[in-house]
Amino acid sequence: MTTQFIGHTTTLGFSLTWQEAAADQPMLATRGWLGATVANHEVWPHGAHDSESWPWIELLEFLARHWRYLEHEIGSDPLGLDEPLDCVREVAEARWDDASEAVRDVEEAQLLGYLRSHDLSRALRGALAPKLFVARRSERWARVSAANVSVDVPWQEVSETLVSLGDAIAARLSALTDSRSVSVCLAWAERSKLDVVAQLVIASGRDHEQVSKLMQGAAGEPSAERFAVAARMVSERVSLVDLAPFFDALREETEADRDPLSLLRKRAVAHIGAADVAAMRRYEQGYTLARWYREERKIPETDRIDLDAELTALGVFVRSVSVDQPEVDAMCALHPSGAASIVVNTFGEHAQGALGRRATLAHELCHLLVDLGIVIPFVEAKSVRAPKHTEQRANAFAAELLVPQSEAARVAHELTALNVPETVRALSHRFGASQTLCARQLSYALRRVDVDTSIDDAVAEYIRALEG
Ligand SMILES: [Zn+2]
Repeated sequence: MTTQFIGHTTTLGFSLTWQEAAADQPMLATRGWLGATVANHEVWPHGAHDSESWPWIELLEFLARHWRYLEHEIGSDPLGLDEPLDCVREVAEARWDDASEAVRDVEEAQLLGYLRSHDLSRALRGALAPKLFVARRSERWARVSAANVSVDVPWQEVSETLVSLGDAIAARLSALTDSRSVSVCLAWAERSKLDVVAQLVIASGRDHEQVSKLMQGAAGEPSAERFAVAARMVSERVSLVDLAPFFDALREETEADRDPLSLLRKRAVAHIGAADVAAMRRYEQGYTLARWYREERKIPETDRIDLDAELTALGVFVRSVSVDQPEVDAMCALHPSGAASIVVNTFGEHAQGALGRRATLAHELCHLLVDLGIVIPFVEAKSVRAPKHTEQRANAFAAELLVPQSEAARVAHELTALNVPETVRALSHRFGASQTLCARQLSYALRRVDVDTSIDDAVAEYIRALEG
């Protein structure tokens, strides 16, 4: 018995040992021991000799059936919960406690369908194997994870490893003529044969009818899959027809110089990396990045930032659309050419009005700097289903970029229980941010300023009043 190793121990790897030299029956021909390693952690013990062998034709059947989802379901989980996949279900259950039965049913079907395709342990029908998830996060990156370990790996590499594993199992069946062997080998050989509309149905999570209606014209263009991925970040209550104006606007590119943004992106990613992000919370990352941005662009923290001028200087193309779907605030995209665009919905719940527009542009700027193509796909939709943690970081970035903590803290020293509303209004006027955003920045600044607790209470009370 020889053991072959497929993949990489530092990312995703498999060690495979066949039980028999050869056999003429599919279960026996593929019987053996398979160990799986994620980031140097043994997730599936190889177990040869100590444990019973398994017919790995089941894994090949799983891979053949679910390959289309592994390949085209790009982004976070379908609900945008953005939690590790081995505990995403518990997080969803907690959320369903407060949801209507109808919402729960739809979301549960979507989430379970997603987990079924991305958990390789599901291949072992009847056997209890530890969960092992493979999910493509962006065009370039996939996340491989198990209970206590997670690693981001280029999709290309993950795909090559899984294909080699599938090929190794298929090779054991290639000479067999029984129907099970023949059909799994055929399905495996044709795993990537999928018409464009079917690909877009998977990428967008929308039904065939909607996709074929809207995407017909766009199906041939390379951006079609990106739009489908963006659609997946928006709940299905918003139809693809309503998203069409966003896609039309995103399609336009300018001839602006791509270098300023691409240089700044490299520096921003390096800065976040240098800031020991593992030890920091999401909003602190957003704050740190916003402070870095002002410093980098030489904008004093006492000044109101001119976002349109910033985006123009970076060569980002900004457009507005008016789509009566308040849950979609904006979309942004980084094109293969390196050009970037942002589309703001003037009817978006958080994007409407001059102040909402500024906060939305700042939020999208964060995605353009550190997220797009890295932790989220090359396109994002600021909507209720966008990945939660990335959204929190972008919101914190926007708040700090618009109203720096240093200034909020300075103002906080002068707060009394009586002047909260006028102080918030003055901040809002000075920095061009909503009163809610300013009041929240003040409340956060108060944690580091020695004032009477009655002032904290007055600010908290005012935030509640603003939020109605
Ligand atoms: Zn966002």
